Amino acid sequence: MFVNKSNFKPFEKKIWLSSPTMHGDEQKWVNDAFEKNWITTAGENINEVEKLVAEYAGVKYAVALSCGTASLHLATKLAGERLYGQPKPNCGTLQGHKVFCSDMTFDATVNPVAYEDGEAIFIDTERDTWNMCPDALEKAFELYPDVKLVVVAHLYGVPGKIDAIRRICDRHGALIVEDAAESFGATYKGRETGCFGDYSAISFNGNKIITGSSGGMFLTNNIDDADKVRKWSTQSREAAPWYQHEEIGYNYRMSNIIAGVVRGQMNYIDEHIAQKKTIYERYKEGFKGLPVSMNPFDAVDSVPNYWLSCMLIDKEAMCRQVRGERETIYISEHGKTCPTEILETLIKFNTEGRPIWKPMHMQPIYRMNGFVTAKGNGRGQSNAYIDHGDVLDVGADIFRRGLCLPSDNKMTPEQQDIIIELIRNCFE
Ligand SMILES: *Cc1c(COP(=O)(O)O)cnc(C)c1O
Repeated sequence: MFVNKSNFKPFEKKIWLSSPTMHGDEQKWVNDAFEKNWITTAGENINEVEKLVAEYAGVKYAVALSCGTASLHLATKLAGERLYGQPKPNCGTLQGHKVFCSDMTFDATVNPVAYEDGEAIFIDTERDTWNMCPDALEKAFELYPDVKLVVVAHLYGVPGKIDAIRRICDRHGALIVEDAAESFGATYKGRETGCFGDYSAISFNGNKIITGSSGGMFLTNNIDDADKVRKWSTQSREAAPWYQHEEIGYNYRMSNIIAGVVRGQMNYIDEHIAQKKTIYERYKEGFKGLPVSMNPFDAVDSVPNYWLSCMLIDKEAMCRQVRGERETIYISEHGKTCPTEILETLIKFNTEGRPIWKPMHMQPIYRMNGFVTAKGNGRGQSNAYIDHGDVLDVGADIFRRGLCLPSDNKMTPEQQDIIIELIRNCFE
């Protein structure tokens, strides 16, 4: 139950979950594009950021696109074509095929499967990193042995168990589309996320670790794949005197202006990660003694980029909270709290938190799709409306008890201490 013991007042300037942090270099490269009149989807900034990002991520090729979603779309489409050949006219490359997908993620990870007429089967989450559970993936291959594609995301900047997932995929002859939109700069066993997929995607959306205002990239080690995506992204024009189209095209290329912003930001990615790490550790320290834990990661094999700090409330410390499709209520209780109460408290003090990304298998658009847990069961035992922790799958449980904390790298230590105190006061 929230008790304003310290009589805090709302922050005058809103504290965001994660907002763009500009440094000035970005403006220089944007101006450069203006001065040279390379304003559209070709130019030096694009070439340069493709080079910089490929080097940073440790992949051979990067193709700059309009957003992370476009990168995931073309990665998924390409995987379908490589696996199943050219689609029938007017059909997506995954038509008639199932695809295993991360369940607790942003919907942009998995929507491209639907764009390409495939059917997503969601794989439950594991507790160690809040990412795709390798045991559940293994179970899914038992249930659906014909599946040849796995779409896997690294949530909140924490690398998933990508080695185990890769081993399972190799054993079943499946390709991987890796969604590193949130995890650019995070490493697993010393290698950057974004290098583990057959095709990988990153994002420069405004709230990500670095931003281009928008933008994204497709990453691969195969030159034919990079060329194919570049061609698709520029309307699939063939080498002919007129507009000749032998494949469906897209207008997905990054503009040279946006590339200028990304170019400037690339100098600061490591600084941003260091700031986010400090924020994560300050929360961790500040919550000592509370019945909560921070979003976990594998400290031996991985280094997160700490994009968002999240917390999970212990089962015993949860007050009653019921979530419908669009609304939520809770009953305040002495000594207990819930994500809804904390988020409402943060809003009152002009601070932005957010619920954990609602798992895909709980989303109305995907409620008819398959869902596999580590126990091999799926549909039926999970329900967004029921609120007794033990029967929930892992994803639904983390959604119920977890929340994303204000993680803006411009938040001062003093402001963060007040936020910590506000959250502590919810447990009164
Ligand atoms: C942001 C995000 C995307 C989409 O990136 P955009 O650049 O916004 O299109 C995809 N997947 C995940 C996990 C994301 O967080």
